[in-house]
Formats: sequence, C-alpha cells, structure tokens
Amino acid sequence: MLLFCRWAKNIQRNSNPNAALRLAVCFASTVVLVYKSRPGMTPEFISRNCPLCGRGNSEPALEKGALHLVRCLQCPMVYANPVPTDLASGEYYDRAAADYYLSPAKLRSDYADIRFERELRLFRKYCARGTVLDVGCSSGGFLYQLKKRFGDCYDVLGTDASGPALAYAESRGLPVRRGSFLDQALPHGSFDAITFWAVLEHLLEPARFLQHASRLLKPTGLCFVLVPNFESLATRVLGARYRYIYPQHLNYFTRAALTAFAGRRFSMLELRSTHFNPLVVWQDWRHRGRNVSNPERAALLERTTGLKQNPALRPIKVLYRLCEMSLGAVNLADNLAAVLINRPGHSP
Ligand SMILES: [Zn+2]
Repeated sequence: MLLFCRWAKNIQRNSNPNAALRLAVCFASTVVLVYKSRPGMTPEFISRNCPLCGRGNSEPALEKGALHLVRCLQCPMVYANPVPTDLASGEYYDRAAADYYLSPAKLRSDYADIRFERELRLFRKYCARGTVLDVGCSSGGFLYQLKKRFGDCYDVLGTDASGPALAYAESRGLPVRRGSFLDQALPHGSFDAITFWAVLEHLLEPARFLQHASRLLKPTGLCFVLVPNFESLATRVLGARYRYIYPQHLNYFTRAALTAFAGRRFSMLELRSTHFNPLVVWQDWRHRGRNVSNPERAALLERTTGLKQNPALRPIKVLYRLCEMSLGAVNLADNLAAVLINRPGHSP
C-alpha cells in the first residue's frame, strides 16, 4: 500500500497532476484502490493486497517499465502491484483476442498435435475419463486434443474471459460457457476434473478461482494447474529481461506459493517443474528485455512448435529432453505443474 501511494504521488507530481484516487472498494478479503487517470494518457490501476495471505505488507521485488513486482513479507508470494484495471477485470483479453489468441500463428501452434503434449500426458495419468472443465480455455486447443484423441472418455466444457476466443473454440465443435468463471451457475460437485493451464498467473484473485473450482468438483475431483515458475533458470538468468515477466502476469509462483494456494482446498498429488524453451532464453538475452509484441510471441511459439515436430531434429530432441528433465529435477524448468485432489468442505 505504501508503495502504491508513493507511486501515485510520483505520477501526480511528474506527469499527471489531475489524477486522483477515486474509489476504495473491498474485494473479498482484498483491499482494492482504483487509480483513475485522464482519458488517453495512462491506464487506470488498482492496488491490492497479497493474493495468497491477504495482507498488505510488502517490499519492492522487481521493476520493468510500468510493471512493479512486490514480495509479500508474510508469505512466499511475489505479485504485481498496482495492476491495470483492464487486466484485473479480464477486459483486456476480450480485446486482445483478435491480434493474438486468434492470430494464424497462435492458432496453428495451439492446434498442433504436439502443443499440449505434456499437459495431456499429466492429465491422462490421473484422469482416464469423466467430465472436464477447462478454465481459461482460450481458443480450445487442449480440449480439442482431448476430444480428438480420447473422444469417448470425456464430456468437456470450456470457459474464458475472451469472447472471440470462445467463438473460435465453438467453431471447432467445443461446448463453451461465456462470462466470468466465478459467476457461472454450474452445478456444484459435477466435474471430475478442472484444468487451469497458464491461467492463475493472470488473475487478480487466484484463490477465489481455486475455491470455486473446489465447489464445482466432485468430492474426489482433480484440479490441474500450470503456472510459470518464478524460480526457473530463465527467471534467475534473465531477471526482468525475461518476457514472461510482463504486465499480463499478475502473480509469480514459487513451489512454496503454489503449495500454499492449493492447501486451502486441495491435497497435492504431484508437483513438478516442467517445460524448457532455450529459444526464449536466447532471444531475451540478446534483446536485453525489450518489449516483445504479441505477434512476436505468437511467431516464436509457432517456430518452437515447428522445431518440436521436425523429425530431422530427433537426435537433438533427445538431448533437449534430458536437459528439460535435469532442470525439472532441480526445480529450474520454466513452469510448475500441479495435480490437486479436492477436499470438499475444507475452509479457505
Ligand atoms: Zn502474502
């Protein structure tokens, strides 16, 4: 909170003298302040408490342009504070869908057979059949692969903040639900599995999403979570230059933080460090952390997918897999993947 006030005063003094604090609201246990600026100048921001423990004592952890990361002094969480309101509400993803989530390069990559290879392997290990809800399903790549490969085993449903991405998923034959996940009147205790692939890092209140997932899951239902690993080799080597430290990511998870989130409603069945993209590390090192546009992100994703599918690179892929497994074994791979089992009725 102190950091936010200092930041707000600084903006008022240096660049936006008419700006003012307009609104203070309570958001569950989180205190949120909305900082409104003049139209056309800078986005509105909100300040928040720690998304894990709910407290407000933090210290600066990292800065990158307008992005300020803070480290909670009461728990292992690192998070962005303040954050632009359009990212906090999900409105940004509705607007950004056209130029990123639905760009030809991103769609080709997301619908490539190899794209969700690791996620599918982990999912099938624990969930052989049942009803599946993919939260933040985007254009539907994961559910599409699940139905394509194991169609008879699963009844699937996708939901996302991005309307255009959901429309695309529907066009590929996938059932979807529009609107905020937290507001959806889905029957409690009705799903065998709920997936959050690369979603929790984008949310203002990730704990509420896990709580709601727990309610919608059957008593022994499973929750699958994939988030960027804030203790990865890439983060340690690149720091603020790493492209995945950017405004769309509001939360930065370590093993300890993800375990603490999960422990409120779930028991942890497996937690592993997975994925490694040396091309990203190389590019971000060379470009010294300049802003990477959405089209550039999509192009690199497609290039990476192409390399993974190239049979001529099979010998190199063996080395690559060994490298990824070694990094994963010491918690240095790019992401954290968790498999959680529901504990219904457990208090938050
Ligand atoms: Zn905290």
